Amino acid sequence: MHIIAIDGPAGSGKSSVSKAAARALGFGYLDTGAAYRALAWAQLNRNLQVGAMSASQIAEVFDYKISLDPSNYWVQFANVDITDAIREPEVAQTVSSIAVLPQVRAFMLQYTRDLVTQSGLTGIVVEGRDITTVIFPEAETRILLTASEEVRIRRRQAELPADVSIADQVTKRDNTDSQVVDFMKPAIGVIAIDSSNLSFDETVTAVLEAVKGK
Ligand code: C5P
Repeated sequence: MHIIAIDGPAGSGKSSVSKAAARALGFGYLDTGAAYRALAWAQLNRNLQVGAMSASQIAEVFDYKISLDPSNYWVQFANVDITDAIREPEVAQTVSSIAVLPQVRAFMLQYTRDLVTQSGLTGIVVEGRDITTVIFPEAETRILLTASEEVRIRRRQAELPADVSIADQVTKRDNTDSQVVDFMKPAIGVIAIDSSNLSFDETVTAVLEAVKGK
């Protein structure tokens, strides 16, 4: 199986670039952040006390499904569509505090590897924060997609309804997230692509070139 691992901070353009690259390659696409968001959503809406649970207890109750089709993205929890709900500011504000928990990371490591290896796909683009370093350090291609803080805040702002606290949110989330995994500097063997001065299409081309270069 051909795995392309793409990491990067909030607002780096990771999700849309990864989807476009997956489509161009005829590969599947996995957004790993969605599972963390779903867990945060379940804590907020299904009364799950994630902090008090072990990795195996999380595995028991995590009734989650995600599409691996880059042209048809959806996320479900207990058969409820949560594709839009997990993008709400309330989830964004909670997710980092859950993502730092060691039992959550242990669960996600196993969950993500199983999901990918059991997908039956021949190729997949997997994006997140720790894919190049922890989840799939042996991936065929490993990319860190970065952008200046200013550009990232601008992109996030454009994606969301007007929200004055967006600058704080993105920076705060990146700061909390960086405590557990370093996704600001590329690890050895990881190709860094800085999209600050690249258009969307140019960024996708840079990713596809990195894949071909292997
Ligand atoms: O990528 P996205 O912004 O949707 O990720 C939501 C959150 O999930 C991140 O802020 C981070 O806390 C967590 N995450 C993670 N490791 C990943 C993907 C996401 O810790 N591989």
